[in-house]
Amino acid sequence: MAHLKKENIEHLLREHQLKLTPQRVAVLKVFLERDKVMSLASLNKYLGKDFDRITLYRTLNAFEEKGLIHKIPDKEVASYALCKHDSISHSHEDNHAHFKCTSCSLTVCLDEVQIPQIVLPKKFKAQKFNFIVEGLCEDCKK
Ligand SMILES: [Zn+2]
Ligand SMILES: [Zn+2]
Ligand SMILES: [Zn+2]
Repeated sequence: MAHLKKENIEHLLREHQLKLTPQRVAVLKVFLERDKVMSLASLNKYLGKDFDRITLYRTLNAFEEKGLIHKIPDKEVASYALCKHDSISHSHEDNHAHFKCTSCSLTVCLDEVQIPQIVLPKKFKAQKFNFIVEGLCEDCKK
């Protein structure tokens, strides 16, 4: 990330109506520096083992609630990625698909791949779509 200044991180938090805490700054910094899908395990790794786990869960929940990050639907590990949409609101517009490599577990946001519209029977109301494609990544298919 080119302009990863402390002011930028603080601005991003403020913009999403999140109070500045050293922990939030630290977690957001990891997301911005890595700019990819982060599992709980990798977040723990980058934050260091002294970082309080409960605080991490609370921070991630707050970020998700404010539309800063979104959760990747994965039954095995909880992973999160920065949201790319501009809307700063409680309702995310993350209707993109995700890809997961079945060999190395690499997970990526396919921001350009929209989830196809699914027409439900009238009696149901859709609230959230999860679309995850499993397969082999570039390195693993070699
Ligand atoms: Zn979002
Ligand atoms: Zn792979
Ligand atoms: Zn995503």
